[in-house]
Amino acid sequence: MSSLPSHLQLVQGVVLPKPVGAHPVLDFVNTRSEWTTRGPARTEWLTSYDAFLIWCSYVGLTAGGDGELEPVLDFRSDLYDVLTGQATDHTFASAARLIEKATAQRRLVRTDDGPAWELPEDPLQVVALRAGELLTGPSLGHVRTCPSCGWLFLDPRGRRRWCSMATCGNRAKVRAHAARVR
Ligand SMILES: [Zn+2]
Repeated sequence: MSSLPSHLQLVQGVVLPKPVGAHPVLDFVNTRSEWTTRGPARTEWLTSYDAFLIWCSYVGLTAGGDGELEPVLDFRSDLYDVLTGQATDHTFASAARLIEKATAQRRLVRTDDGPAWELPEDPLQVVALRAGELLTGPSLGHVRTCPSCGWLFLDPRGRRRWCSMATCGNRAKVRAHAARVR
C-alpha cells in the first residue's frame, strides 16, 4: 500500500519527513525542502496548523495545542537564519523575542521526582524553548548544514556530510558516478 519514499512517513494522515537532525529543533527547521534556494519550498510538510501539531507529537515534543500556522513558519525561517549564522539584526530579534516569551511561560513545579520545569501549553513556545536551549548550549557548535539541501543536523563526531545517505548522500554518489563515466 505504501509507495512513500523511505525518508518520509505517513503519520495520522499527513506525510512528514523522518527525523534526521538528531535534535527536535533541527528537525523542526527540516520540515521544508531546499533551504538552499531560500525561495518557496518545493515541498512544504507543515501545510496546516494541524500538520504542525501532528509533527510535534511525532517527534515527542508536545501533544495538543491551538494556534496559527503563520507564526510557526515565520519562526522556522528566522531560526534557520540564526542557526546558520545568516540572521540579520531584525531576524535575530524576532526569533529571540519568541524564545524569551516562551522562557517566561515556563513554571517550576513540584513533582514526585522533585522540582521540574512545566512546559508552556503552546507547542510553538515549546519549540522556541528547546531552540533557546540549543542556541545557548554546547550542541550549537555541532550543528552542520547539508551542502545539498540545506537541512540541519547535529554532527558531534565530525563524520557526517549529508542530512541523510538515503536522499542527499545517494544523489551525490550518483552524480559523482555519472561524472566519472562521462
Ligand atoms: Zn540534504
